[in-house]
Amino acid sequence: MADSALPFWQTTSLSDMSKEQWESLCDGCGKCCLHKLRDEETDAIYFTNVACRLLDLESCRCSSYETRFRKVPDCVSLTPDILADIDWLPPSCAYILIRDGQDLPEWHPLRSGSAESIHEAGISGRGKMISEREAGLLEDHLVDWPAEIPAGVARKKRRRKPRKTPW
Ligand code: SF4
Ligand code: SF4
Repeated sequence: MADSALPFWQTTSLSDMSKEQWESLCDGCGKCCLHKLRDEETDAIYFTNVACRLLDLESCRCSSYETRFRKVPDCVSLTPDILADIDWLPPSCAYILIRDGQDLPEWHPLRSGSAESIHEAGISGRGKMISEREAGLLEDHLVDWPAEIPAGVARKKRRRKPRKTPW
């Protein structure tokens, strides 16, 4: 098959993607917007089902994406640079899959053509999350599902460290 017939995520490195391509990689699972706890001794990450107050719990998308840093200053903007060493994204995250040399799964919206496919496949946080506005203590909300590796997704060694982002 000619390269031009392949989708962009199979032919373009993360660091060479346009901003539009980069943004479209996000599957809308919402799991990166969950609060996490880190064990100070072991450095291990523990997910909670407590979502950032700006997360729309139904769409699993940020309700104020363009202006989010004004309201949530510690929100992290994903770039190829920080992706190289990040350890708190869920294993289903499209950026992690591509970083580690895997393809996008069939439930990814870029493959299915529908933003609903990730919810229908049970991969997103829809129906499983609670807003930080009403959650109370994070320690009371520890969960395993955000860290689960979905069927068909294998952890692989990363192939290369992305170069500096061009935008
Ligand atoms: S975990 Fe990754 S794919 Fe899912 S919403 Fe966050 S950035 Fe997008
Ligand atoms: S500000 Fe938006 S993108 Fe950032 S963690 Fe909150 S919901 Fe997610």
